[in-house]
Amino acid sequence: MGDNTLSQKNWLAPITEQLTQLLAQQKLPHGILFNGHPGSGTWDLGYWLARQLLCPENGLWGPACGHCKACTLILAGNHPDIVHIEAEKAHIGVESIRKANQFLVKKAQLGQSKVVIIQQAELMTEAAANALLKTLEEPTPFSFLLLTSYDSDRLLPTIQSRCTRFDIRPPVGSALKQSLGDSPLIDDYANMSHLTQLQDKEQGQLFTTFETVFNAWLMQPQQTEELVAFLTEHSFALGWLMQQFTAATRKAYQWQGIREHEGLAKLSQSRPDTLIQAITLITHASRQLKQLTQANKKFVIESLVIDLLKLISNNAEKRPR
Ligand SMILES: [Zn+2]
Repeated sequence: MGDNTLSQKNWLAPITEQLTQLLAQQKLPHGILFNGHPGSGTWDLGYWLARQLLCPENGLWGPACGHCKACTLILAGNHPDIVHIEAEKAHIGVESIRKANQFLVKKAQLGQSKVVIIQQAELMTEAAANALLKTLEEPTPFSFLLLTSYDSDRLLPTIQSRCTRFDIRPPVGSALKQSLGDSPLIDDYANMSHLTQLQDKEQGQLFTTFETVFNAWLMQPQQTEELVAFLTEHSFALGWLMQQFTAATRKAYQWQGIREHEGLAKLSQSRPDTLIQAITLITHASRQLKQLTQANKKFVIESLVIDLLKLISNNAEKRPR
């Protein structure tokens, strides 16, 4: 991931400018948190900053050159002075954080700075978060902890309070459409939560699968299995489910500029108040899911899909012919 992604996400520019200034003034904090929706650029920023910190070409605090040995090693994922931590099996365990802590007390091998970048830090277990806390409280010189999160509410308040926080807020609606270029997956009401399916190829494919599964369910709502399985495996897709119901509500109120597909046309035949009830149910389930294990997730999603089914079919019976 290079500066291309960064310039594409033009809403990141004010943050990179601010960070460049902090670097130039040698005032960069030791713990930094980048928070924003998936696709908004949390990782792009973390990775960008790591490169600024590790490239020696323009002085310790100057911009990364992009072609020296250090830059090449980072791009190849082989730089010895950066550790990248991400979730394994949906969690970041205490062992990963301990290793990072050990790495930070050692001397840097190539330059002076050492960087630990924690992707989706909200997935740290409590033990992991506590282990990290010590390092945040007692920083070693020239060591930097860059945390990224999609949902900072799930981070321990003590972690949050020890990091300097940058919230990423991409534009919405037509402004977002403009900065990303036209896409069949985007309508006039697009917002941050639509970004992943637009910018990440894998997510884009997953989104297409979701639409297919969701459409199939709307055509035969009694057959809930496939939708339940999909949502259980990818619980973030509840956000997509919400988008669909929101779009159907807008369509039911005859707003213009909504992306069309078969299922949506059917769904928007429902009464708007029914659709709003559906959105409330999804929001509620989505909150519940954040605190549950996989086994319990399936139960919540099953109940949700059945409740949605009841709502939609009751509505169909009552609709005047
Ligand atoms: Zn360089």
